[in-house]
Amino acid sequence: MTDFRRRIPRTDLALADPRLVSAAARLGRGPVKAAVVAAQQRARGGEIAPEDVVAAAVAALPDAGMRPVINATGVIVHTNLGRAPLSAAAVDAVVDAAGYTDVELDLADGRRARRGRTAMAALAAAVPGAGGVHVVNNGAAALVLAATALAAGREIVVSRGEMVEIGDGFRLPDLLVSTGARLREVGTTNRTTRADYAGAIGPDTGFVLKVHPSNFVVSGFTSAVPVDDLAGLGTPVVVDIGSGLLAPHPVLPDEPDAASALAAGAMLVTASGDKLLGGPQAGLLLGDADIVERLRRHPLARALRVDKLTLAALEATLRGGTAPVPAALDEDPEALRARAEALAAGLRADGIDAVPAATDAVVGGGGAPGRTLPSWAVSLPEAYARRLRLGDPAVLGRVERGRLLLDLRCVPADRDRELHAACTS
Ligand SMILES: *Cc1c(COP(=O)(O)O)cnc(C)c1O
Repeated sequence: MTDFRRRIPRTDLALADPRLVSAAARLGRGPVKAAVVAAQQRARGGEIAPEDVVAAAVAALPDAGMRPVINATGVIVHTNLGRAPLSAAAVDAVVDAAGYTDVELDLADGRRARRGRTAMAALAAAVPGAGGVHVVNNGAAALVLAATALAAGREIVVSRGEMVEIGDGFRLPDLLVSTGARLREVGTTNRTTRADYAGAIGPDTGFVLKVHPSNFVVSGFTSAVPVDDLAGLGTPVVVDIGSGLLAPHPVLPDEPDAASALAAGAMLVTASGDKLLGGPQAGLLLGDADIVERLRRHPLARALRVDKLTLAALEATLRGGTAPVPAALDEDPEALRARAEALAAGLRADGIDAVPAATDAVVGGGGAPGRTLPSWAVSLPEAYARRLRLGDPAVLGRVERGRLLLDLRCVPADRDRELHAACTS
């Protein structure tokens, strides 16, 4: 027997691992044992390391389902990790709303009431410049509703520099055209002027759309038209700010926000709830009261409506308390450095090759393209990447030049101990 085969844990020893003991209590011993045997086979075939047998078995369990992940990638709004984690207050609100709740009833008089009115009130209070507010399933749904209700059979005037692919092959232009609106593209990829818009606006125009290129930057010889200039053209302007910042953020000076877009004359602003706002997946519609009412009454609105759990989480997010995304934006790099040093020292004491490393974190798909945030990580041998990914909770870092970096910007300080445990288990 070769040496590495000898390092493959015996079935009974593997089954004694606490993660598999708890899985066996849930699922019965049969499927758990089968998962261990399959993982041992993979280790014998050299597909996984002998040390990873238990982790691979855990990952392969039949009801593994969605698993909790510690985001040590340094990407704050990570689409593949579900974007914004909810605040503790929002989680509590979701739990409370999961039973019967007065989402569409006024308990004072026992009658039916506007669905989600308390969440709408919280959103309206957060953006006083909005005459009306509505919430749909996500940012894309907000755009579809606006395009359908305000421009079906007519034209949406949009800059060629803002024809964005939002991810996984989905492109905003295709989404807009799917509503029956026609796109009137103006300008070029790098430059669009006020005159380009003015020349395209006519009797067929539904609205002018301004889209925030939230996942790329065009630099060099560029020009774009600000919202107030577009509003001066006399045609309704819809602004897709993407990120969901409700007001300007000091750390992200170039990121558009709802209050500023409305103050600049936008008729309607659309945004996501689960990017920089740090709430649940949702599409926010803010703007002119009559227009928002039209959208709210459109038949399609019923197909795009959000459920009570989303309304509960959104309301709690808006009512305050710090959510993880804004907290990650505000992290003090010196505090991150102190944590990285302490964590690395602790791991070295356990014989692990760990060193603190200065890094650049990013906002991610949620906005602020090209903007980096100074951060600190614990740097480990790359071999830890897979093991940590398969752990419970899973830990996802990023691999750079042969090292695994566990960036602490999106890891709450009270979870450093779990990172240590994940590396030593
Ligand atoms: C993210 C984004 C969208 C899509 O919003 P979802 O909530 O993902 O549907 C649309 N436009 C912009 C500018 C975005 O950044």
